[in-house]
Amino acid sequence: MDNKYDAIVVGAGHNGLVCSALLARAGKKVLVLEANEQVGGAAVTREFTEGYSVSACAHLLYQLQPEVRKDLKLVTRLASEDMTTIALSEDGKHLRLKAGSVEGVSENDAEQYRAFHKRMTRFSDLLRKFFNKPPPRLGTKNFKDLMTLGQLGLDLRMLGKEEMQEFLRLIGMNIHDEVTERFEHPLLKGAICLDAVLGTHLGPRSPNTILTYLYRLAGDHGRTSVPAGGMGSVSNELAHAARSAGVTIRTATPVKRIVISNGRATGVDTEAGEHFESLMVISNADPKTTVMKLIGAKHAETGFARRVSHLRAKGNAAKLHLALDGLPTIEGLSKKDYAERIIIAPTEHYVERAFNPAKYGESSPNPVIEITFPSFRDETLAPSGKHVMSAIVQYAPYDLKGAWTAAAKAEFLKVILSTLAKYMPDIEQHITASELLTPADIESEFHMSGGHWHHAELTLDQFLFVRPVNGAAQYRLPIEGVYLCGAGAHPGGGVSGAAGRNAARAILSREK
Ligand SMILES: Cc1cc2nc3c(=O)[nH]c(=O)nc-3n(C[C@H](O)[C@H](O)[C@H](O)COP(=O)(O)OP(=O)(O)OC[C@H]3O[C@@H](n4cnc5c(N)ncnc54)[C@H](O)[C@@H]3O)c2cc1C
Repeated sequence: MDNKYDAIVVGAGHNGLVCSALLARAGKKVLVLEANEQVGGAAVTREFTEGYSVSACAHLLYQLQPEVRKDLKLVTRLASEDMTTIALSEDGKHLRLKAGSVEGVSENDAEQYRAFHKRMTRFSDLLRKFFNKPPPRLGTKNFKDLMTLGQLGLDLRMLGKEEMQEFLRLIGMNIHDEVTERFEHPLLKGAICLDAVLGTHLGPRSPNTILTYLYRLAGDHGRTSVPAGGMGSVSNELAHAARSAGVTIRTATPVKRIVISNGRATGVDTEAGEHFESLMVISNADPKTTVMKLIGAKHAETGFARRVSHLRAKGNAAKLHLALDGLPTIEGLSKKDYAERIIIAPTEHYVERAFNPAKYGESSPNPVIEITFPSFRDETLAPSGKHVMSAIVQYAPYDLKGAWTAAAKAEFLKVILSTLAKYMPDIEQHITASELLTPADIESEFHMSGGHWHHAELTLDQFLFVRPVNGAAQYRLPIEGVYLCGAGAHPGGGVSGAAGRNAARAILSREK
């Protein structure tokens, strides 16, 4: 087998697949090496117990970039789209939120929410403009960088003086202060706080939670959908696009090292002892894994290696999958509501209190939960008449005190089930099997440092011009021939394909 390639991509996460497809379309001979047996990284569908499948990490689609869809001609089929968020209340008086409208609150809250959503989506559009291009380098005289920076200034100015000031005031702030200033209904405040903190090691009172809220909205203004066949169908479609463009994808092939000779990449060695040559190695693995493990600190400049090793990337989101012999009862829900996004975040204080123990390495006794029943509209996931529940559960800190032993996991599962039982009293009767993935499991099964949703925390000090760290924000590492193309690079995580597309474009434009 020929072992020489124009580019080798380490990892077939959705970003690696996007990147490889675009490079191959530009005429490059590309090899993708993936450690796991399946493509897709954290965007996969897998069977967790006989006959029951589920999206193993990411379960809701809301950030896939239109540019990626267009470039790769994706026609992703959806089982549910433009879902309503139902914020559960123990008394059955739930709230329903959708695209700026909310039912179940006072007129004042409804009006305030419309205005809030309008302003936030406008601000998120400003961020989105930067999602699909590499961030400009600061302090250079490069024309393109100056143009991009100029455009940022102009876009800000276009908001108008007052809105510009408001944007600058809000961007580093916390979501808690904003929601308590504006709204009365605790469920509404809780729901907004949950959207701001999901996937992060942040609570509603943490700075940067307006930024994370805007990041989420920048996807599709908060509209969510469930792909038919689970998230794996998105990755399979991307793999198909990559293979059709000529990419060779090898699964079950973990890369041991990126080979560096005389300060530049020359190829990769696999764990199985194979060697592949390429002067371009693009890593879909997270930045810490890429620099500290695959390259090795000795090949990186000391300051750069230190910055990477100090990246904050400790996940806090666990994933619970339940096989159910029937749908649990939820007071106040109609049958069709089980196709929607259901959340447990009853107040802004509940969300903050759920976060508090995580600061000290403890899991939450009252977790925040995002729930879907994807089998409700998709019979490929469970036997006829049976169901799967897919839930993201916060907070479950990666570095749990005493570690995520089997006993600690069993204890946390008990806590989650008793939280669910407050809203679904018969849930336990319906469970026939379960799988709980903690951030430690996610790290080992999906090879993401800290099991972190974004590969590295999404806060201003690790965002835009300095994501993941200063000196590597344009996908190119300060080691010739090595690039990043995953969630740890700009703009961040979520199933968006933006980092993969931007990396491919940055690489191709360098060659012009
Ligand atoms: C619990 C959880 C729930 C989430 N829910 C959502 C959601 O609902 N919606 C959403 O949009 N996002 C969600 N996310 C975030 C989203 O899943 C990720 O941000 C996104 O999948 C990252 O994609 P990626 O391609 O950049 O990286 P990854 O998906 O991490 O892919 C990287 C790939 O590289 C491979 N790899 C690593 N090291 C090596 C090596 N040495 N050799 C070979 N291969 C290697 C890995 O096996 C993996 O396949 C969630 C994340 C988590 C953890």
